[in-house]
Amino acid sequence: MADMPRLFKATAEIAMASPDKVMLRLCTRFSEFGEVSGHGRCRRIETGFGAADVEDCGHCLRICAAGSDEVALAYVKLAMAEHLLKLADEPPAIVWRGDSMAGAPLPYFREMRVKRAVAVTPRMRRLTLAGDDLHRFASGGYHVRLLIPRRRGMASCWPVMGEDGRPLWPAGKDRPDARIYTLRRVDPAAGEVDIDFVLHDHDRTPGARFASEARPGDIVGMTGPGGGALPKADWVLLLGDETALPAISRILAELPAAATAVVRIEIAGEAERQPLSTAAQLDLRWLCRAAHGPGRLVDALGEIEWPEDGRSVFAWAGCEFEDFRAIRRHLRDDRGLKRDEHLAVAYWRRGFAGDDAREE
Ligand SMILES: Cc1cc2nc3c(=O)[nH]c(=O)nc-3n(C[C@H](O)[C@H](O)[C@H](O)COP(=O)(O)OP(=O)(O)OC[C@H]3O[C@@H](n4cnc5c(N)ncnc54)[C@H](O)[C@@H]3O)c2cc1C
Repeated sequence: MADMPRLFKATAEIAMASPDKVMLRLCTRFSEFGEVSGHGRCRRIETGFGAADVEDCGHCLRICAAGSDEVALAYVKLAMAEHLLKLADEPPAIVWRGDSMAGAPLPYFREMRVKRAVAVTPRMRRLTLAGDDLHRFASGGYHVRLLIPRRRGMASCWPVMGEDGRPLWPAGKDRPDARIYTLRRVDPAAGEVDIDFVLHDHDRTPGARFASEARPGDIVGMTGPGGGALPKADWVLLLGDETALPAISRILAELPAAATAVVRIEIAGEAERQPLSTAAQLDLRWLCRAAHGPGRLVDALGEIEWPEDGRSVFAWAGCEFEDFRAIRRHLRDDRGLKRDEHLAVAYWRRGFAGDDAREE
C-alpha cells in the first residue's frame, strides 16, 4: 500500500465562557468563503488551505488544525486565531501545540533582495526581487505581503511564529510596514519574482516610497502567497485600476482560448496603457481619468452586455474602496451573482493606509 502523505497538525484548547456561541459564529463566518460540515458539538471547517476540526467542550473550544505542509498548517492556525480574536466576547488565550512551534521563522516568509528596477510606464515601476526557495509562490494565489523596512538600508528585523499562530512582530521602529502586492511574474528556477508598483501621488508612503527609491541590493521581506485561484468560467469580466493591472495580466494569461474576457481598466492617462496578452476572446477598454475623471469603472459596469445564452460567468474587480463598494453592490444586488460567481476587493482606500483600506 502506498504511504499516506504526511499531514502537519497542531491543536489548541481555548478556554472561554460560551464556546457553543463562538463555534457557531466561527462556522457562520467561514461558511462565507470556506466549507463547513458536521453538527452538534463537532464541526469541520475547510479553509481552502487545510482543515480545522472544532469541538465545543463545554468550557473550551478544542481546535485540531491540519495542512498538507507547514505553510498550509500555518495559514489554518492564522485564520482560526484571527477570527476567534474578533468573534469571542473576550479575547481568548490561544496556544497551539504540535508542528511549527512558536519562535520559529514563519514558513511562508522569504527575505528578498532587489535585483533590478525598471520603469514600465511613467507611474509604474517594476522591481525584480531575488530569493531562495520560491516554488511555493508559483501557485496558490497571486498576492504577497511585502514587509518594508522603515528606513532604506536598515538591518532586517522580521516577524516569527507567535504561540497563537499569528506573526509575532518586532517592536517599535524595528517593525516593518506591511503592504499587499501582486506577483506579476514568478520564476522559481531563476529564484526571482517581478512586482509592479504604482507610484501614486502619496509617494512618501511605505510601498510607493520603497518602489521609487529601491536600488539593487536593498532588502525586503515577503510573505505569502495568498488569494487562491479564480473559478473557471466561459465569460469573465475583469474590472480594475492600475493597482489591479498585474493581477488582471496574470488572470488573462491563464484564460483558455474558449473563454471570453471583458476587461475595463481605469488608468491615469494614455501613457499608462500596457500590452496584455491572452488566448481568450478579448474585449478590452482603457478608461482614462485624465479624459473622463475618476469613477469610470462603475459607469463602465453599467454599460456591460452580459451573456444571456447560458454561459457560466465570473466577475472580478480590484480597485479603490468606494468603487469596490459600488461594484460589489451592483454585482450582488442588481445582477444577483452568487458567491462563487464574483470577487470584488478593495485594493486601496483614499485616506486609509495599508490593511485599514479593507476594514468595512
Ligand atoms: C490583493 C491586492 C493586490 C495588490 N496588488 C498591487 C500591485 O501589484 N501593485 C500596486 O501598486 N498596488 C497593489 N495593491 C494596492 C496596494 O497594496 C495599495 O495601493 C497600498 O496602499 C500601497 O501602499 P502605500 O504604502 O504606497 O500607501 P498606504 O500607506 O497604504 O496609503 C496611504 C495613502 O496613499 C493613498 N494611496 C494608496 N494607494 C494608492 C493608489 N494606488 N493610488 C492613489 N493613492 C493611493 C491613499 O490615499 C492612502 O490613504 C494591491 C492590493 C491588494 C489588496
